[in-house]
Amino acid sequence: MKQSDAQRAWRARHKNHIAKYMVAYNLRNREVIAAGKVVSNRRRELYQRVRAQLKLGGKCVRCGFDHDYRALQIDHIAGGGSRRRLKHDPIKDILAGNTKKYQLLCANCNWIKRYEMNEVYCARS
Ligand SMILES: [Zn+2]
Repeated sequence: MKQSDAQRAWRARHKNHIAKYMVAYNLRNREVIAAGKVVSNRRRELYQRVRAQLKLGGKCVRCGFDHDYRALQIDHIAGGGSRRRLKHDPIKDILAGNTKKYQLLCANCNWIKRYEMNEVYCARS
């Protein structure tokens, strides 16, 4: 469906409202999303990310955070995620059933792990 100018303008004015709605929508429809029933093409990518997150347990493996999917990140257990991402898509990998290499971390725990694994590179070094 193509958006009209009026629709586009409305969406631009109500960005925050739409973001909140999307979070609530995804929380309400976790089971539908997990079952892979995609409601609209536009949301397929987002749903795939949420489905991959649910396959990994749906919460941070370190602290248990599960309040907002936007703060959950797919982590390569062995490290080096940012280099590997160039070659393949972890979300497709996970949805295909290859979950062993990955874990779900919240943004805070992921950064702490990066420091622990010495994966924080300083621009000045
Ligand atoms: Zn955490």
